[in-house]
Amino acid sequence: MPDEKLIIEVKDLTKTYPGGTEAVRGVTFHVKEGEFFGFLGPNGAGKSTTMNMMVNLVKKTSGSITIDGIDLEQHPSEIYKRIGFAMQEIGLDETATAREMLQLHGRLYHLSSERISEQISKLLKLVELEKVADRYASTYSGVMRRRLDLALSLIHEPRILFLDEPTQGLDPHARQLIWNHLRELNRQGMTIFLTTHFMDEAEQLCERIAIMDKGQIVTEGTVAGLLAEHSCKTLEEVFLSTTGSNLGEEEVNENAADPYARSRM
Ligand code: ADP
Ligand code: MG
Repeated sequence: MPDEKLIIEVKDLTKTYPGGTEAVRGVTFHVKEGEFFGFLGPNGAGKSTTMNMMVNLVKKTSGSITIDGIDLEQHPSEIYKRIGFAMQEIGLDETATAREMLQLHGRLYHLSSERISEQISKLLKLVELEKVADRYASTYSGVMRRRLDLALSLIHEPRILFLDEPTQGLDPHARQLIWNHLRELNRQGMTIFLTTHFMDEAEQLCERIAIMDKGQIVTEGTVAGLLAEHSCKTLEEVFLSTTGSNLGEEEVNENAADPYARSRM
């Protein structure tokens, strides 16, 4: 990549939730402009918490986040213009159509009516929702919902896109469709920060990957670099050797009440 500008710089970031869970315990990394960067890790690793702090939905405990050279804490609204994000849980208005939701989002970003119309045509085409644009969201399939959510995140033409598990719950064919949209956006120059617990997704899409476990980055590099560094043949082997995991199983609480205890007595 000729342009080596760092568009995201995260330093010593931590998050302790009220109640004491140390979800993120000192994370430092950077993303270069135009890069497709993956944050891979088992469930509960702290991926969503990290991403949510980067888009200012969760307040950090300590550390710093700089996006396009701007400190997030000091100038959040400057950063909102530059970023788009699609969260892990999608919240669509079931009684609105894709076109209506795109219009609303455009107005929230203070775009002119003209620009909103242009963006809607462009985005409906990009995510292939033109045919269903005037149907209620309640009628959309899982992949249509993800596509609409993606289009909504792009209405203001952000330069950096944050995606949290964008293919969760989708079948293999639908995942491929979303991957194609993301590849196209990245090809057009967009920087993409993606979290996933799917190794194939990280391998297919990301130029560079950080593997996160228990609130910390355990290793980072290109897929080829990670394989060489850890003497592994697949990313799955790297994942298992660095996280010791469990492949996404969260720990069970042994002390929880047992709802079947009485019936067994
Ligand atoms: P991931 O996205 O990698 O699955 P999360 O960032 O969602 O991980 O969660 C990291 C840890 O923080 C987990 O132990 C989770 O239970 C905890 N956690 C996440 N959100 C909250 C919250 N709002 N309040 C308290 N604990 C939370
Ligand atoms: Mg998550």
